[in-house]
Amino acid sequence: KSAGPNQQRTYKSTYGEFANQRSRLLLDLKAALANDQLSVVYQPQFDASKHTVTGVEVLVRWQHPQQGFISPDQFIQIAEQNGLITEITDFVMRQAIGELNDHGLLYHDVTRVSFNVSAADFIGERSRERFARNLSQLPGDWSIVQLELTETAALLNLDSVRRVLQSLRERGVQVSLDDFGTGYSSLSTLRQLPIQELKIDQSFVRDIATNMNDAKLVRTILAMAKALHMRVVAEGVETSAQASFLIHEGCHELQGYLYAKPMGIMQLATFLRNLRSSKLQT
Ligand code: C2E
Ligand code: MG
Ligand code: MG
Ligand code: MG
Repeated sequence: KSAGPNQQRTYKSTYGEFANQRSRLLLDLKAALANDQLSVVYQPQFDASKHTVTGVEVLVRWQHPQQGFISPDQFIQIAEQNGLITEITDFVMRQAIGELNDHGLLYHDVTRVSFNVSAADFIGERSRERFARNLSQLPGDWSIVQLELTETAALLNLDSVRRVLQSLRERGVQVSLDDFGTGYSSLSTLRQLPIQELKIDQSFVRDIATNMNDAKLVRTILAMAKALHMRVVAEGVETSAQASFLIHEGCHELQGYLYAKPMGIMQLATFLRNLRSSKLQT
């Protein structure tokens, strides 16, 4: 009898701690946006046959004053659920464009900049305006910009996503479907969106060289993308066996630790400078 209330208290406090942690994280994230704790890193992407850098993906980073580095996987979802994600998107786009421009990398060394966006970025009358304001810092045309969205994000508000993407397309912005293969989009849905690129999720890339089913799946994605005239990027490429398979099967571009990890702007500038003289080895 006396163990009952005790146990309940334990359960309650555990649940309370969990909820508490999430609201704490949310408060901290709001502070992070206001106090310069967020930053961006860049991960280069490579052409599979020409061994050149085709673009960079911009990824957000959070350095928490007490807890240290907190992964986007831990806070993006919370930001999405609490209406904070659009502020993060605005920060990431402006910060990256500013940094790349300050280092003279835009349109020269970096000809494509990919941003991860969420469903909420496409909701409301002002979403087009917000993208326009963020991109207005670009010294040239918008075709250098690509938006990466997941199938799940696209499906959440298909109509408004399509409308906003279409108007951005008219200004040259490119569209990539991220984590492809992990969502539930059908071919007919895909055809409703102005998509230029598919990113094969890293969960399919991981065992590509050893798992027959994953290999078949990736071949199928590549064949489909070819039929739809889309570019295919493989993400999470870590071994040369994975790279060889992907290149052999006709994957256009590769991204992963094998080639380059996400890096800050200074490191990126050096990386691109070094690459200009020595070609990538595979
Ligand atoms: P994602 O867009 O699919 O990005 C790929 C993730 O894989 C990144 O993790 C990247 O650092 C990591 N990665 C790259 N190469 C390799 C590799 O060879 N092996 C392995 N194991 N991982 C690799 P990161 O930066 O932690 O981001 C995780 C996710 O958080 C992203 O997945 C994206 O969905 C989200 N995210 C990151 N930055 C932003 C952002 O600015 N806005 C939004 N809305 N989401 C973001
Ligand atoms: Mg991405
Ligand atoms: Mg991805
Ligand atoms: Mg992902």
